[in-house]
Amino acid sequence: MTQAFWQIAYIVGALCVVLAIKWLSSPVTARRGVIAGELGMLLAVIGTLLRVGAVNLQWILIAMVVGAAIGAPLAYLMPMTSVPQLTALSHAFGALAAALVGTAEYYKDLSEGHPTVGFKMVAIVVESLLGYLTVTASVMAFGKLQEIVPTRPMTYKGQNFINLALFVIAAALGIWMIITPTPAWVFPAFIFLSVLFGVLLILPLGGGEMPTVIALLNSYAGAACAAMGFALENRLLIIAGAVNASSGFILSVIMCNAMNRSFTNVLFGAFGQAPTAGAAQVAARPVKSATPEDAASILASARRVIIVPGYGMAVAQAQHKLRELTDLLTKRGVQVDFAIHPVAGRMPGHMNVLLAEADIPYDRMHEMEDINQDFAEADVALVIGANDVVNPAARHDKTSPIYGMPILDVDKAQTVMVIKRSMNPGFAGIDNELYYMDRTLMLFGDAKSFVGEIVKELPKN
Ligand code: NAP
Repeated sequence: MTQAFWQIAYIVGALCVVLAIKWLSSPVTARRGVIAGELGMLLAVIGTLLRVGAVNLQWILIAMVVGAAIGAPLAYLMPMTSVPQLTALSHAFGALAAALVGTAEYYKDLSEGHPTVGFKMVAIVVESLLGYLTVTASVMAFGKLQEIVPTRPMTYKGQNFINLALFVIAAALGIWMIITPTPAWVFPAFIFLSVLFGVLLILPLGGGEMPTVIALLNSYAGAACAAMGFALENRLLIIAGAVNASSGFILSVIMCNAMNRSFTNVLFGAFGQAPTAGAAQVAARPVKSATPEDAASILASARRVIIVPGYGMAVAQAQHKLRELTDLLTKRGVQVDFAIHPVAGRMPGHMNVLLAEADIPYDRMHEMEDINQDFAEADVALVIGANDVVNPAARHDKTSPIYGMPILDVDKAQTVMVIKRSMNPGFAGIDNELYYMDRTLMLFGDAKSFVGEIVKELPKN
């Protein structure tokens, strides 16, 4: 009877995990996706407790309380712009759990006098290698994003060779353990090399690479959990781990494509070293700036306005003011749409989440490929705290670090208005030629306050 219950809990839990990923792919169903994911986890925990039967629950309860005491404040205290860091930490915890379970299984079998062999050992080796390296790599990624660890790429001569050699030695130890029982020092040495490899993997990368790297680490953590599922003969872990591994991998590929970066570049490149000289060139060139009154009167006489949000909108939390502006313009008969670049902000879906939070209708939000051709027909492109994702240099300047990255064609609109606080560059550290175009007006100020000013100045009838 109990067996039937935990098996049902596992099947429904696995279904919830798959549905969660499906629903999370659209802002309309994202909330449902989060609930499905939480329900899946709850069923997994209940199912596992039923499965193991009468065990001492004391330690499990303590672990739950400690986990909740760490997780709940983290979720509430970290601002939205710090979600990449938070995600890195949660991968570190997940991977640590997988790695520790692998280690415990290995030593449990050893202490019971029958050292792990065969397929189970393969699973433990994969789980421990991916698990331990993901722990340290994720902690390093967290450190770089939080600027606790220097964000610039740290490179030295022979770095790739050392990394590769370390990985090969760790893999060789793993294969040794799979083939035959090994001396006592081998497993700890294997763990040490995996932990070290995680640190060295992140050193040569710039802070800017971290969101993409985190998606990749998500994939490793998922693969470690799937391997743990094989070691423990637990189907739910295999399914959840495999879904996690594949979705993390697909996400990192999408992010790399959207930034025109190859996987090898992300792993061995030094994007963070991109020239920051652009900032210095900026001051010498004149730009046209405008006031909130100017902006309001241009917007009031437009027929079609396309708004492009970026990282600055997230920092300023300008989405609610933007909603007010959208409502007022729509009332005046202006067609207002939002153009969302796949890597605007600092994490995938960053803009969609913020705009949805402000109740901006989903049918007003458009993906880059769906709206790009419409800029040529727009009276105004209103860029709010976006920079790299609208930089025309990506189309033609082969020396630019963002060359080849698909961008939103805002420069094709009749008038371009850009809200930002200064002429400072964005994430890639480069100047933006959009700001010097004849039809571009710079609206200098904090995104939230500036949009608020425009709202005040807009004619109300
Ligand atoms: P961005 O290029 O980083 O530019 C953001 C702009 O916002 C800055 O130029 C900044 O200018 C302005 N800003 C900051 N705070 C502001 C405030 N309070 N009010 C008004 N403006 C403010 O942003 P983006 O165009 O969204 O591009 C995203 C970048 O992140 C891309 O290079 C992308 O490759 C990278 N990236 C994204 C992801 C992802 O998953 N989304 C992952 C990894 C990397 P001021 O300082 O002058 O105000």
